[in-house]
Amino acid sequence: MRIGNRGGTGVAMKCDVVVLGAGPAGLVTAIGCAERGLDVRVLDRSTFPRPSVGEAVHPGAEVLFERLGVADRVRKAEFVRHTGIWIKRQNKHEFIPFGETAGCAWRGFQLWRPMFDQILLDRAKELGCEFLAPCVPCEVVRNTRRLKLVTSAGTFETKVVVDGTGRNRWLARRWRLPIRAFSPPLVARYEYAEGHSSDLDENPLFVPTRDGWEWIARVHKNLYQRIELRHTQNEAGFKRPSNGFDGLRKVGRPRGADVTWSIVEHSATLQYFLVGDAAVVLDPSSSHGIFRALSSGLLAANCITQVFRGEKRLGDAAVAGYKAWQRKWFLQDVNRMRKFAPTRAHFTFARSGLAIAFASGEAAKAFDTKSTRSVGKGNGR
Ligand SMILES: Cc1cc2nc3c(=O)[nH]c(=O)nc-3n(C[C@H](O)[C@H](O)[C@H](O)COP(=O)(O)OP(=O)(O)OC[C@H]3O[C@@H](n4cnc5c(N)ncnc54)[C@H](O)[C@@H]3O)c2cc1C
Repeated sequence: MRIGNRGGTGVAMKCDVVVLGAGPAGLVTAIGCAERGLDVRVLDRSTFPRPSVGEAVHPGAEVLFERLGVADRVRKAEFVRHTGIWIKRQNKHEFIPFGETAGCAWRGFQLWRPMFDQILLDRAKELGCEFLAPCVPCEVVRNTRRLKLVTSAGTFETKVVVDGTGRNRWLARRWRLPIRAFSPPLVARYEYAEGHSSDLDENPLFVPTRDGWEWIARVHKNLYQRIELRHTQNEAGFKRPSNGFDGLRKVGRPRGADVTWSIVEHSATLQYFLVGDAAVVLDPSSSHGIFRALSSGLLAANCITQVFRGEKRLGDAAVAGYKAWQRKWFLQDVNRMRKFAPTRAHFTFARSGLAIAFASGEAAKAFDTKSTRSVGKGNGR
């Protein structure tokens, strides 16, 4: 770790872009910016390797791995691969394959995050990004042309800050950017277990339940993950595991993650970009949190390059395009996912004042009718 003017005194270190958070979204933004010759610093509160959730990725992500120059390393990492997903309804199993080309099945990835994130970090470093960890941002001050970012490892003077801090949403909280929720509060509970289950194969199992869903997947060698989400009774704790998971040996304690569907409407300006979960959170049944993190990182890097061209018109267009893209994809997902939400969840939406937005069938209107809830304006800490 490079230590600069610790505590924010002395001369600030100058760079083009500072990326907060070294998850997939932050690292891909860093890779994209560094490829275009920008001077990039990435900081994370944790040293690598560190545990992280979010594994199952559609085979289509391979195109992005190629684009990022990490496809060979991802293939060599020997992640668990799956050709589709089992869905269990009323005790009947149905297999939904991803597809095939000339008899060869497409295979998704269970990206074991400590390894996958390390692959991305290695690529970012290869391209010249400097990585600081453990390091946390403390304060960010806007001047007309530059930003002053005070961190636990010193002060940076930069043109653009990228927030890739995931569901922590450091910048949105710091600057009290409005965060709009499109669902009642949702908590995904997850746990891990070791061993071998003859009821489970390489392909994840998705089980819609009366008030939510359960997901079980082999995520690493002999390690399985179980996630459960209930639209109601979130306080009641885990259901008794079933579907082959109950016979396995539990590892660690069950954990919970806030996965309330939400978006930071102002996901970019000429001075900051929010990428991945820092911009948009959906519950894991959306099935593409990682894919969105990678895509938003690539797009943000493109837009940041436009900002650096110095022509305000180009920069403004890039920012507007980025915000529209984030918003459009999020609203498409919300509309798609609410079709599968159980009836009781709709009842919950209605009670929380979201019915107006959803009844019309166009979640987009919610932005204009102010019928969504603001879940956080940040507490400035
Ligand atoms: C239980 C669960 C299961 C999921 N399963 C899947 C799945 O199977 N497939 C899928 O595609 N998606 C899944 N997701 C979603 C997926 O995990 C996220 O969409 C994805 O990780 C977002 O990537 P990111 O880079 O935006 O954020 P993250 O991966 O959360 O990375 C954020 C980074 O920022 C760092 N950070 C946070 N705060 C600070 C701070 N203040 N200062 C410095 N650094 C900071 C963290 O240490 C971390 O390295 C799942 C989510 C959950 C909760």
